[in-house]
Parts: sequence; C-alpha cells; structure tokens
Amino acid sequence: MTDFPLAPGSTIGILGGGQLGRMLALAAARLGFDVAILDPEPDCPASRVAKTTITAAYDDPQALKALAEASDVITFEFENVPARAVERLLDVGAEVAPNARALAIAQDRVDEKTFLNGAGAPTVAFAAADDVASLALGIETLGAPCLIKTRRDGYDGKGQTWVEHASDAAAALARVGSGPVIVEAPAAFRRELSVIAARGRSGEIALYPLGENHHEGGILRRTQAPAELTDRTRAQAEQIAARILGALDYVGVLAVELFELEDGQLLVNEIAPRVHNSGHWTLDGCEVDQFEQQIRAVAGWPLGPTQALAHTEMINLIGDDAEEWKRLIAEPAARVWLYGKREARPGRKMGHVNRLRPLKD
Ligand code: AMP
Repeated sequence: MTDFPLAPGSTIGILGGGQLGRMLALAAARLGFDVAILDPEPDCPASRVAKTTITAAYDDPQALKALAEASDVITFEFENVPARAVERLLDVGAEVAPNARALAIAQDRVDEKTFLNGAGAPTVAFAAADDVASLALGIETLGAPCLIKTRRDGYDGKGQTWVEHASDAAAALARVGSGPVIVEAPAAFRRELSVIAARGRSGEIALYPLGENHHEGGILRRTQAPAELTDRTRAQAEQIAARILGALDYVGVLAVELFELEDGQLLVNEIAPRVHNSGHWTLDGCEVDQFEQQIRAVAGWPLGPTQALAHTEMINLIGDDAEEWKRLIAEPAARVWLYGKREARPGRKMGHVNRLRPLKD
C-alpha cells in the first residue's frame, strides 16, 4: 500500500517519455520526486531529465514489473497505453492514476461518447459501425454530410474522413483503413475551446481558465488563454468538466476538448486522460501549471491554485519552426520550451512558445 501524500524522495513512474513525460518529470523533480520512465525509444525526450529510464515495449511484462518496483505511483503521458500494460501493473500491485476505466473510455470514441452522454456531458449525435452496411445505415440515420473516424488510435486528425452520401460508405471505410468506426454528425462550431481539469485523491477539483484552440492540418497550432467567454458558457464548461471527473472517480489532470456552437452552447469533442498540448500555456500563464498539478494529484498532494497570471498565447513549434530558436530566445515576452528531440520532421512537435501579456491590457 502506498502512503499518501507521497513524501519527497519517492519515485513517480511514467509510461511514455515524449515531451509530456519530460515536462511531467521536470515538475516532479521540482517537488523533490525522482522519476522513472518506460518508453521504447532509448533517447526519448524525458529520458534526459529522469532518474531512471527503462527502454522496452509498453506491454513488456519484465519492463512493467521493473517500473512497478522502481515506482511508488505510476501515471502515463498518452492515452493509447495498451490496456494489458495497466492490467499487468495492477497485477503486480502498482498504484496507477488516472484509473484504468478512464483510460479505456478515452481509447474508444464510441465508449467515450456513450460515457459522456451518460454523465450529462453533451456531444454530437453519433452511431457505431463495423462494416459497409452498418456505416451506410449510420450515415442515413444521422444525415450526410457527416464525419467518419476510426473508433481507436486516431490522433491529430488522422483516421478521419468526411462523407457526403450513404453510397460513399465503402470508399469512406477504405480511406480510414476499415475496422470499427464512429459516424459523427457535424458540429457547427464557431470556436474550439478546451478546459484542463484536475481532481485530487480526496475528490477536490481544480479547473483552469478555458483556452481557445486553433488547428492547422489537424494539429494544434495555437492556444489563446484565458478565452473570452460569457458567464453562461464558462459555467457550462465547468459543469461538464466536474461531471466527467466525478463520474470517472478520476485522479489526475484531464483535458476536455469542446465545440462552442453559435448560440454559446458547448458540446464535448473528446477527452484526454492526461496533460494536454492545449494546457501548455499554464506553464507560464498560471499559478500552478498542469504538469505540477498532475504530479500533485497522483502523489496525493493538495491541488494547487489555477488562476491565470497573464494573457498567454501558446504557439507550437512544429517541424522546422524550432530552427527559429535564436530569434525566439531574444524575445522578452516569449517563454521558450524545447523538447530536446534530435531530429525535426514535418508535423513533429519540437517545442512551444508562450507569449505573455499583462491581464489588465
Ligand atoms: P478529433 O481527432 O476528434 O479531435 O478531431 C480533430 C478535429 O476535427 C477537431 O479539432 C475538429 O476541428 C474537427 N472535428 C472533429 N469532430 C467533428 C465534428 N463532429 N464536426 C465537425 N468537426 C469536427
């Protein structure tokens, strides 16, 4: 049994050693914890700031056992951790947060939307389909145009396609690579927003101000926070986030991606049971950032305050953008975060910049 609150000097295990694992490890180190990473890449970004790195596949039983032995609590930086990896960790007595149910729900778009609606968090209308016939039926029921997405493993807009007519079902299925899919009614949104939410081990909740997100080519490009909102929309976002956290009996940070419709109503697009790119602005623009908040939550520490200290614009540095680092480090209002990735590839997130402006502007 792990004793909470976890004492400084304890070890936090993280499945995944990308940039999110790296920023979690930095936050953990600041609070006096050691970090153990499990990642298949020997030179992953988090490995260079962690005490221990285990290089192995996520479902390697020996590696999972070694991670459990090294760690007092284990968390993850991405939601596609294989379910059997978490089962294995639990079997060997590890303490894992967020819980396996939250992870499983976030891995399947149909289960996710079914859960969300049941928890009182509205989404677009949707249908599940496994083959051309059920897909054609789903498209007819929801009405074209609609969006087809793979049920599992989609990210950054991959595995998605629009269909204009039920007779396009076979072609649409081929475009997303067959397999089970979800059919979604289109959301006529005017903005995409997200709320980063956290729940501690004693059930307390902390919500960050909402961010307004702009995507390019399916990848998050820019977040502006705090987003300008009506009181009604803000209250709805807070109610949605609190319902989701409560229904999942959640411990940790969770991102809720939202569509704001023309009338100000919100629909949930998806949830991510982890720290999130649209929360990177909190690193410089908030009292306690999302990475420290995640470490506090899983360690059983009290959650920290989430008030915004500045207007922040977060810009992702994607691919060659990171070559601009000399110019960026000379900009007084820019806080530069670089992930230490050895090679820039198109679409690869290399870092981000937070540009700050005083709140009273
Ligand atoms: P996702 O991978 O589900 O986050 O979708 C990627 C992007 O596609 C979102 O950020 C939206 O811009 C767009 N999108 C996703 N679902 C819908 C929908 N049902 N209606 C309209 N646009 C959508």
